[in-house]
Amino acid sequence: MKAIVLFSGGLDSILAACLLKSQGVEVVGLNMITPFHDCSEESRKAAEEIGIELVVRSFGEEYMQMVAHPKWGYGSNVNPCLDCRTAMCREAKKLMEEIGADFVATGEISGQRPNSQKQHQLSLISRESGLNGKLLRPLTAKTLARTDMEREGTLDREKMRSFTGRNRVQLISYARAAFGLKHIPQPSTGCVLCENSYAPRVRDMLKHKDVPTIWDAKALAWGRRLRIDENAYCIVARRLADCDALDQLFAMPERSRCVLLFPHNYMGASVMLVTDEAPDFGETEPRISEKLAAYIQTAGSLSLRFSNPEKYASAEGGPTVRVQLGAAVEFIGIHEDPEVEKIPIIMESNRPEKSKETLEQGGEQNAESAPAEAQAEVGTEKGAVLQDTEESQSGDSNAV
Ligand code: SF4
Repeated sequence: MKAIVLFSGGLDSILAACLLKSQGVEVVGLNMITPFHDCSEESRKAAEEIGIELVVRSFGEEYMQMVAHPKWGYGSNVNPCLDCRTAMCREAKKLMEEIGADFVATGEISGQRPNSQKQHQLSLISRESGLNGKLLRPLTAKTLARTDMEREGTLDREKMRSFTGRNRVQLISYARAAFGLKHIPQPSTGCVLCENSYAPRVRDMLKHKDVPTIWDAKALAWGRRLRIDENAYCIVARRLADCDALDQLFAMPERSRCVLLFPHNYMGASVMLVTDEAPDFGETEPRISEKLAAYIQTAGSLSLRFSNPEKYASAEGGPTVRVQLGAAVEFIGIHEDPEVEKIPIIMESNRPEKSKETLEQGGEQNAESAPAEAQAEVGTEKGAVLQDTEESQSGDSNAV
């Protein structure tokens, strides 16, 4: 028999794969990258350690539609876990049909996550994904209705497990005793949709765009996000890594909605202005509307707000920014505007560094791994700045 196991590389999915392997099932892991969560590296390492084949796939723009309008609502933050797990199971079903596997399995455990792993929610995922009867949760199978494989006797239900609830200690003991696992992965929130520090940015995005794109999701991860009004927001770089990220975001097709401002004659913060007022990217000499000119001035003033006054006060002829609109470049003088002090920061990014690759994949790195120069602040703040003070908290996280 052959099974597709949704495989995050976390303890639960490792155990589900090991248990099936021990029953003689050929296991193929499937790791799904979402625009908000990429654990493909961890899952690759784990798959290698336990000796299973791994397929890594990414969700496309349809994932954003689901995040914006989840059929089954959100968990403790903006994490639409029931819809997300259903979508992952649908992808697993596709892979199962492609490679002629017999069923799909996950490491879900009944009652482990109060917002999405109650028994009726597990049944709902089975039903909604079209896998009814073919979706096995080996770690908790004995507490659930029989799957087709158990009914037909192709899998021995007695060899399955009856774990329930959140007790990780029993899972760790089982991992060591049954499979001799030495490396036990730490539980990880992983998915930023579960993080308190990230949710305000996501909510702001969802409030202002009916169906955001993956580009919008990637843009959330960088700098300070400040909304000017209903039609425009700015991302102000905090670190050199943010500047690189803004460059990369600007190189993508969505730049038709973006204006990029670089300090020209002072050391300070780069700013990306995102607005539907931005001229069409196809124009070589874009005309700047009055409204757009006002937005650019505000964005320039935001650059000054987050730059060291000593660095721009002496700029010859006053501070000037290089403004990039599509392929066109203009140099525009900017001035301090006390009004911009009133624009609240939605939340500051706590993502210090991303390589080009991880940005392209929507992935993330943690603070400790960022090179020192990438963590250097751009300019010095002079305005009041909200810090991310809340601890990241898990709602439901990557538990497949
Ligand atoms: S926590 Fe996991 S299941 Fe929930 S939305 Fe994020 S990736 Fe999906």
